[in-house]
Amino acid sequence: MNSDCIESMLNTELLINSISEGLCIFSASRDCPDLELNAWNRQMEIITGYALEDMNKNGFDSLFLTKYEKTVEQYLTNFLLDETETKLSKEYFIISKDGKTKILSANVSKMPMKNGNTGAIALVRDITETKYIQQELMEYKERYRKMLEFSTDAVFIHNNGIIVYANPSAVKLLEASSEEDLIGKDMMKFIAPDCYELIYERMKLTQACYSSLPVIEEKFLSMKGKTVYVEVAATNIPINGVKNNLVFARNISYRKSIEKVLREREAMLSRVTENTLDLIAICDSQGIVTYATPSHFNVLGYTAEELIGTRPNILIHSDELNFVENSFEKMKKLHQITKIQCRLKCKNGNYKNVEICGKPLYDKELFQGYVLSSRDITDRIGTEEALRKSEKKYRKLFNNVNDSIYLYRFDENGLPGEFIEVNDIACKRLGYKREELLNMNVREFNPFITENDGKSISEKLMTTGQEMHEAINRTKDGSYIPVEVNSILVEVDNEQYILSISRDITERKESERALKHSEERYRMLIESLPFGVYIRTRERILFSNKTGLEYLGISSMEEACGRMFSSIVRPHDDYKENYEKTMAFVAEYQYLLPTEEKYIRISDNKVLDIETVATKWNYDYTDDAYLVVIRDISDRRKAEELERSMEEKSKQLNEVFEYEKMRTEFFANISHELRTPVNVIFSTIQLLNFSIDRMNINNLAPDKFKKHMDTMKQNCYRLIRLINNLIDATRIDYGYLDLNLSNSDIVNVIEDITLSVASYIEDKDIALIFDTDTEEKIMAFDTDKIERIMLNLISNAVKFTESGGTIYVNICDRENSVIISVRDTGIGISEEKQKLIFERFVQVDKSLTRRREGSGIGLSLVKSLVEMHNGTISVKSTTGRGSEFIIKLPVFLVEEKEINTEARKLSAQANIEKIDIEFSDIY
Ligand code: ADP
Repeated sequence: MNSDCIESMLNTELLINSISEGLCIFSASRDCPDLELNAWNRQMEIITGYALEDMNKNGFDSLFLTKYEKTVEQYLTNFLLDETETKLSKEYFIISKDGKTKILSANVSKMPMKNGNTGAIALVRDITETKYIQQELMEYKERYRKMLEFSTDAVFIHNNGIIVYANPSAVKLLEASSEEDLIGKDMMKFIAPDCYELIYERMKLTQACYSSLPVIEEKFLSMKGKTVYVEVAATNIPINGVKNNLVFARNISYRKSIEKVLREREAMLSRVTENTLDLIAICDSQGIVTYATPSHFNVLGYTAEELIGTRPNILIHSDELNFVENSFEKMKKLHQITKIQCRLKCKNGNYKNVEICGKPLYDKELFQGYVLSSRDITDRIGTEEALRKSEKKYRKLFNNVNDSIYLYRFDENGLPGEFIEVNDIACKRLGYKREELLNMNVREFNPFITENDGKSISEKLMTTGQEMHEAINRTKDGSYIPVEVNSILVEVDNEQYILSISRDITERKESERALKHSEERYRMLIESLPFGVYIRTRERILFSNKTGLEYLGISSMEEACGRMFSSIVRPHDDYKENYEKTMAFVAEYQYLLPTEEKYIRISDNKVLDIETVATKWNYDYTDDAYLVVIRDISDRRKAEELERSMEEKSKQLNEVFEYEKMRTEFFANISHELRTPVNVIFSTIQLLNFSIDRMNINNLAPDKFKKHMDTMKQNCYRLIRLINNLIDATRIDYGYLDLNLSNSDIVNVIEDITLSVASYIEDKDIALIFDTDTEEKIMAFDTDKIERIMLNLISNAVKFTESGGTIYVNICDRENSVIISVRDTGIGISEEKQKLIFERFVQVDKSLTRRREGSGIGLSLVKSLVEMHNGTISVKSTTGRGSEFIIKLPVFLVEEKEINTEARKLSAQANIEKIDIEFSDIY
């Protein structure tokens, strides 16, 4: 090699080594595809750690990192041989000789080689450092982006209040549908108005400095108008050199509401703890009281303030201090709640029993202290004591009650098994020792209870939980005691026991027997009573004694049972009305005082006259039962009947007596009446005889003679009248007086007889006035009888009327009847007497010094004659003012022959005679 050549070589070497980048030249020929390294400068040695010799020796292989990279040699060869390619820019990973990974950037350009081969020059730069920085920046950017995107806090960036960025949490917080809703909007739009002032203040601060602002609470307004509580941090950040605000907002609405709830709960809890009766204290890890409820004062007398800062141990009774401390140590170690009882000293020096519940507090296994909750159990201890005493009392009772008590279980066959407990009285009564009895069972001293009985007792006990029966216990010495056993099923800890209480009922049995005897006695008594005794409801007989059954015509109680009362007896017609009343009375008052009743026995229609008493009676739980006692009162009835007929008879007898008396009186009267005219006639005859004896008959003055003869005639009339009346009365009594009915003019007959009387009374200065409302009334009547009636009435009127008076005779036509009245203005008849005057033999004035004559037979005859005409007669009178006799005669006609006018005329003649007779009383 010449010096030029060397120099040029050196220059080239100097040149390539002097450039700051790595430089290598390589070539390849089509003939020999292996890559030939032509130059490798110093820089390349620094970058790769390999010298040119190393490269020539090892080739590119050791240099490249991956398999793919290892094909670089091939790749470069292809590039060199491809005539279309001139440049290549690429980055490669290599491992330098010291084992470091490096990133190289290579710019390869083709260059012609002297030997005509194609070569390439590569300028290589180590970009490892730059690459890493770039990478890191990218990662940073990504990380921050992600941080913003995924931040649960809302992040806004705003420029002078205009939002330029909002992350998804911000979109959510402000209830926007997307980021676009927010960007470009004024941040203030989303601030609650009451926070404006606060925000303006902060804005001003932000303008002034770059540092971040303190975290504050604000209220945002969402796009839907909802108020959202937020905690906001803000700072300035530059974006492209422009100052922007970065705002972090955290939704604290939930926290706020929780806070509110917690605050309330805290208030409540503190109220509870402040007011609790329990003593609650909190001690720190050193055992110093940090909190105590005010209740301490009430229970122990210390205020909370006095206790805070002390150790609770100082209150504990010295006897119990060790025990308490040990318990608390254990509690602390075992992390468990511990309950202990001890005495605490009160401020006044007394001790109180308390139950302390201690709970250790831990924060991540680190002991923080205790919560002590103590309760005053002084009272409870008292109660426990009382309970113990009461238990003792019950045990005493158990052993001292007068009943035997057994507690036992059923055996495997469901029969009473061995005893678990028996009381003292059970042992005493049966004569066994407790130990003996405990080894026995109920069956052994109940010889009369068969296995079947026992089974049914057990069955009832098991199904209903209780059972009662009577039994006879055999004692150890072989005697027997009647007992009543009451058993109940008791369950203790899922096991069933039977508790039997057995009562000695010897006395009761005794009294039952006595009762039975007495009952029998009463039964006999009732059966032999002569009264009917029933127990009955309204419808049925529940019980009847023998007499009762006899009344009802029933042979036995069996026959009576079930029969309706109404099928046995029914109320008598006389009693029907009162029967309902009696039943209603019993229903209302539930008793019946002696009441007479009358029934008909349905079986034989016999009348039952009875007297009944009843009262409500509780019989066999029938609530409408009555005890009824009845007595046969038919004898009494008969006696009453007899009494009544006796009364009747004696009344009749009295009447007869009375009648007899009247008759006697009448006859006394009538004899007087008869004697008077006879006396007169007799004395007149004597007078006439005297005159005839003493003087010549011719000397007898004719007027005197006439007067004596008239007197005799009148007295004969009186006798005739009397005798006529007597005869007619007798005829009427015996029914022999007949009516001689003919159709005549009644008006005419009455008028005629009235007028014919007129002359008789002229000298008495009594007016007689006849009046009629009709001229003629033809009807059937007996003229003679009517005339007798009228003469009688008119003569009475004349008799009892003083001179100057008036007598009215009226006849009045009533179509179907005629009314004939005779009225006077005389002395009248007293009301009392009016009732009597129509009776036979009655004279109103009975005195012997009678002013007026009469037999008292006239009116009774008149009445009979009127009644024979089917008429009626009545009287109206006032004493001192006059009387009126009113006759009412029915109007009818009879079939008859022609009216005999001749006879009428004859009778007119006879009238004068009649009047003489009827008026013979009147002088
Ligand atoms: P006698 O036949 O004695 O008159 P009567 O039967 O006619 O009897 O009358 C009975 C009694 O009734 C008389 O005694 C008299 O006392 C009373 N009597 C009858 N008519 C009248 C009358 N018009 N005024 C007052 N008393 C009368």
